[in-house]
Amino acid sequence: MAEECIFCRIAAGEIPGDIVYQDEEFVAFRDIAPQAPVHILVIPRRHVSSLVDLTEQQQGLMGCIITLANKLAVEQQVDKSGYRLVLNCGVEGGQIVPHLHLHLIGGRRLSDQLG
Ligand code: 5GP
Ligand code: ZN
Repeated sequence: MAEECIFCRIAAGEIPGDIVYQDEEFVAFRDIAPQAPVHILVIPRRHVSSLVDLTEQQQGLMGCIITLANKLAVEQQVDKSGYRLVLNCGVEGGQIVPHLHLHLIGGRRLSDQLG
């Protein structure tokens, strides 16, 4: 765990998060500033700073995280209406929190704009 990392601390239960799912490997919690009625962040418990830091050995992690996000989309009842999965990487990619996270966003019609 990275001591100063806010998402590591949420995963460890050290600071509160509106957790919707957790297991040994992953934690999913509601975004503090939701951009849509459903806005959940899915993170690996193990600290990985960014997509760019993923090693070849960790490539399976992304498959698991997407599969989990799909399950949460069903639970949150946005699977039929549609949803968006977003991974921001680095400064120009719009990443603010340096712990790898997948956004699950749904519940409203999203714009076509990439930002
Ligand atoms: P990024 O821009 O890094 O891809 O997204 C970071 C997301 O984390 C943002 O949508 C932001 O609202 C959310 N966030 C930042 N700090 C916290 C926090 O302390 N708790 C929760 N639940 N979400 C946070
Ligand atoms: Zn972390």
